[in-house]
Amino acid sequence: MSVALFGGTFNPVHLGHLRIAVELAELLEVDQLRMVPCSLPPHREALSVSAEQRMAMLQSAVANYPQLVADDIELQRGGATYTIDTLRQIRQQIGSDMPLYFCIGIDVLITLDSWQEWQKLGDYCHLVISPRPDYALPSSGALSDWINQHRCDDLPQLKQCSAGKLYFCDTTRLAISSTDIRDKIKHGDAIDFLTPAAVVNYIHQHDLYE
Ligand code: ATP
Repeated sequence: MSVALFGGTFNPVHLGHLRIAVELAELLEVDQLRMVPCSLPPHREALSVSAEQRMAMLQSAVANYPQLVADDIELQRGGATYTIDTLRQIRQQIGSDMPLYFCIGIDVLITLDSWQEWQKLGDYCHLVISPRPDYALPSSGALSDWINQHRCDDLPQLKQCSAGKLYFCDTTRLAISSTDIRDKIKHGDAIDFLTPAAVVNYIHQHDLYE
């Protein structure tokens, strides 16, 4: 089975996430695009909603899309969330031959060099980068060098090998963020059409983010 992973806090999941998840699943032709909520440090979770609630919202958002899967692999593991551990775990499930894609926004790519064992990520997966307004790539330094070394603009070539390349795709840029949704709720503003109706209902039923 070919798998793409799309990690995030999903606090809450919104249409910016879901639209690019659908586009990435089509573009990469994967059997599953797994959306993987990360665990948050206890102090951040105490201020926010629980991991179970983030997961429940994500599950309700993808319920009618068999290709999109809410995967609690990092929440189950608990503690600090290191992507490299998740990739190792998924590789054990799917073996070493199939392509594995790890999808992130450019805002996340530019922080990659602060991640645990970041230079080894390419041993396990391809990185697929979605654009977001207002973020630029670093022009020098270790991360910039790493990006240039691994960059591949040829999608068929990417699909032919199992890991090790970095691909920039042109998914739809929707200026929606979880921060903005949380702020709107605090101010008593509507959040309809920023996230699926099932998520809007869940948030209101559980008085989240107030
Ligand atoms: P917050 O506002 O709380 O920081 P967020 O909206 O950025 O949250 P995350 O859950 O942190 O959402 O993001 C998970 C992943 O989705 C990241 O790789 C991020 O780049 C990407 N992403 C989030 N929002 C969008 C969007 N509107 N368009 C494209 N990618 C997005």
